[in-house]
Amino acid sequence: MTRIVIVGGGYAGFYTAYKLQKLLRRGEAEVVVIDPLPYMTYQPFLPEVAAGSIEARHAIVPLRRHLNKCRVITARVTGIDHGSKSVTVTPEGQPSFSLDYDHIVITAGAVSRTFPIPGVADFAIGMKTIEEAVSVRDRVIDNLHLAADMPPGPARDRLLTIVVVGGGFAGIEAFAELRSMVSAMLKEFPTIGIDDTHFHLIEAMDRIMPEVSAKSAQWVIKNLEKRQAFIHLNTQLTSAVDGKLALSNGMTLETDIVIWTAGVKAQSMLGGTGIPLDERERICARADLRVEDGDTILEGMWTAGDVARVPDLSGGGVGGYCVPNAQHAVRQGKIMAKNIVAVIRGEEPKNYVHKNLGAVAGLGVGHGVFQSGDLALTGLLAWFAHRFYHGFAIPMWERKARVFSNWLVHFFWGRDFSSVRKVQRPRDFFEEFASRPAEAPKKATRQKVGAR
Ligand SMILES: Cc1cc2nc3c(=O)[nH]c(=O)nc-3n(C[C@H](O)[C@H](O)[C@H](O)COP(=O)(O)OP(=O)(O)OC[C@H]3O[C@@H](n4cnc5c(N)ncnc54)[C@H](O)[C@@H]3O)c2cc1C
Repeated sequence: MTRIVIVGGGYAGFYTAYKLQKLLRRGEAEVVVIDPLPYMTYQPFLPEVAAGSIEARHAIVPLRRHLNKCRVITARVTGIDHGSKSVTVTPEGQPSFSLDYDHIVITAGAVSRTFPIPGVADFAIGMKTIEEAVSVRDRVIDNLHLAADMPPGPARDRLLTIVVVGGGFAGIEAFAELRSMVSAMLKEFPTIGIDDTHFHLIEAMDRIMPEVSAKSAQWVIKNLEKRQAFIHLNTQLTSAVDGKLALSNGMTLETDIVIWTAGVKAQSMLGGTGIPLDERERICARADLRVEDGDTILEGMWTAGDVARVPDLSGGGVGGYCVPNAQHAVRQGKIMAKNIVAVIRGEEPKNYVHKNLGAVAGLGVGHGVFQSGDLALTGLLAWFAHRFYHGFAIPMWERKARVFSNWLVHFFWGRDFSSVRKVQRPRDFFEEFASRPAEAPKKATRQKVGAR
């Protein structure tokens, strides 16, 4: 049977597999999805997970449950040999094995892109995974608990300072959502006032959110300023060692939480595999999502999403290529599935064409921004648009229902501000009290009694 191996079950990979399992006839092909994570992460919800508006498990889509006609392997692909058409699969802590394929789909996504700024790699955290979002939420909550009974001073200020680096969509959403959460939490912390909390976002360019108009971006800055969250434009982080931040405008800050969202880059696991990459390490694809090497098509190799450089035939892309976002990843995944089936059946694949629909961002409960062409909405209406769009955009009805029920419950009873950070060291509780067998008496060490 023809075997289609999908490397990465995120947005593009999940939708490719989901569509393939619908399109393929019984016995026509086997679909294998390989990802080190057993779930697809709905990344646009990460800021709301960090802000306690969505339960972490509801913002992910379990692969085995919804790709039930596919074979799911929880492992990392560590090698691709297209000459012999085989991949090396490495499950965590287990020996690697190889798997042959007829078609390979590379949808391994992107990772946070950092610069060699002292302290960033050791101290900062990203906002790309569910684990990072949960960790940020728990840390912010724990820090408020600690600060509540501390006297004013630098140590307390450090706990109540949150810094985000990068004014793109992900950074602004995370910043604004956390501001919203902390402001809401203050009702439960009478010893902490809003002036005691410090929110700073650092952006190297002269504007934020390039996806919305300059006017809407300006509205966002003003809106956040009113909520005591400050954006520093034309400013760079120059050092972050141990949370002691130095900025290019001369400002210094001390913080416990630095969230790095200043860009992403394609997964670099492909270097050395002979797969054609551009100067930004993206896989070079044709508009029909087949991988190309110059003028040659690599038969049986496909790609989409953030890892790929796909021509934007709508004419709207940056440098002529699709920008890395979910809008493209989802649609490319669906077209790619159709194209793979077409090729298996001896038909011609079709080109991917999609015109950008616009952008919508949630900025914390009751605040949002929406832009589609010249149409812009800000405030409550845009926030509703954000919730409506993303609530329905997360794949599978059972996930949509879980997310909407989160929001409904919060409407009546508020968000749940409990931190379970201790889950990272769960044995501490048990170990503290667990009795151990008495230590065996040490054998008396024979001493040579020397003649004196
Ligand atoms: C905070 C945040 C908010 C966002 N908001 C929006 C938004 O509002 N609108 C929008 O359009 N876009 C948004 N995006 C961008 C969007 O989420 C991405 O563009 C999209 O996830 C890209 O899909 P992908 O399939 O290429 O990669 P991903 O969804 O990242 O999936 C890649 C998968 O590959 C797996 N993988 C990696 N390496 C390997 C390997 N070696 N072997 C096997 N598997 C591997 C990973 O585990 C992952 O599951 C947001 C992103 C973030 C971080």
